[in-house]
Amino acid sequence: MKTLIFADDGEIAGQICSYLKTGTENYVATLPGEESKCGKTGAKQIFVLNGKPDSSNVSIALKELKDRESIDYVFIGSTAFGRDVAGKLSGLGNMKPLSEITSIAFKDGIAVTTRFLYGGKSVLTEESNSNLFVTAPGISEIVQDKPGSPVQQLNLNDPAVKIVGEEKKSAGGVDLEKAKVIVSIGRGLGKPDGIPMVEQLAKAVKGEIAGSRPVCLDYHWLSEDRQVGLSGKKVKPKLYIAVGISGQIQHIAGMRGAKTVIAINKDKTAPIFEECDYGLIGDLYQIVPKLVASLLA
Ligand SMILES: Cc1cc2nc3c(=O)[nH]c(=O)nc-3n(C[C@H](O)[C@H](O)[C@H](O)COP(=O)(O)OP(=O)(O)OC[C@H]3O[C@@H](n4cnc5c(N)ncnc54)[C@H](O)[C@@H]3O)c2cc1C
Repeated sequence: MKTLIFADDGEIAGQICSYLKTGTENYVATLPGEESKCGKTGAKQIFVLNGKPDSSNVSIALKELKDRESIDYVFIGSTAFGRDVAGKLSGLGNMKPLSEITSIAFKDGIAVTTRFLYGGKSVLTEESNSNLFVTAPGISEIVQDKPGSPVQQLNLNDPAVKIVGEEKKSAGGVDLEKAKVIVSIGRGLGKPDGIPMVEQLAKAVKGEIAGSRPVCLDYHWLSEDRQVGLSGKKVKPKLYIAVGISGQIQHIAGMRGAKTVIAINKDKTAPIFEECDYGLIGDLYQIVPKLVASLLA
């Protein structure tokens, strides 16, 4: 069984390759500069797509690779760019796509996949004859324990989209994966005005500020590089303080490696209380200032 894996983020390509390593012959395609992130994950061949990538020329290149290498299944890392590529490739190759899968197994030529439903509150298991899988980030740890794969350079066609401007993200430069202490905020904060109060707590415990997906991605109270979870950073601090976070599985997936977890939540039935070592039930606007005051006393 042959697979072609593409992700514009080499780490996600490597995660998928690590996940699929048994029983499949994996070909990986990624963008220049990303190849080392997915190296040593057991790929038979890594293709580096050179040129000015857009979803059109990348999907054409993937279609050509798929035909040339007689690929059975294509996996695309679910990034904004990857999802565009998957849509175009699906049309070009008359493929049968499935989005946001979080696991896959093959049974007699049938793909058995799971994906989250209702914002992650349920897991849907499906059997299908799909052959294009848009794969959620974090499907596996990246395992780089194999010999290096041969790397082949491929040239992309001229882009169909003309980029008329580019704005670099401000370099926040937060390295959450290495942080020893993290204070993480959730939707329970209610408003961005609460952030300075939580920053005081982070300062008192010499920690970094992080957040759940709604806080980083939906409301932009924090930058996206501070998101913890399945589709965010996987962190392993000595201490993780979850402030106003309910503890949905996609969030827990990112902080499960924390040594000690303290949760502050006003709802005593919140799932975070099943994941924490110490729980404080109450209004975070009452609790956090008291914690700061006692830490600084
Ligand atoms: C494919 C996929 C990937 C995802 N990836 C991620 C991810 O990487 N990271 C992530 O975080 N989520 C992710 N999610 C979203 C996830 O399912 C949850 O929706 C999200 O984690 C909820 O964030 P939250 O805990 O901040 O908000 P909520 O679930 O709304 O929880 C807010 C909590 O705050 C408490 N609260 C409210 N007011 C107060 C107060 N004054 N004092 C104390 N407590 C209070 C409430 O009781 C509640 O428990 C993903 C979802 C999907 C489908």
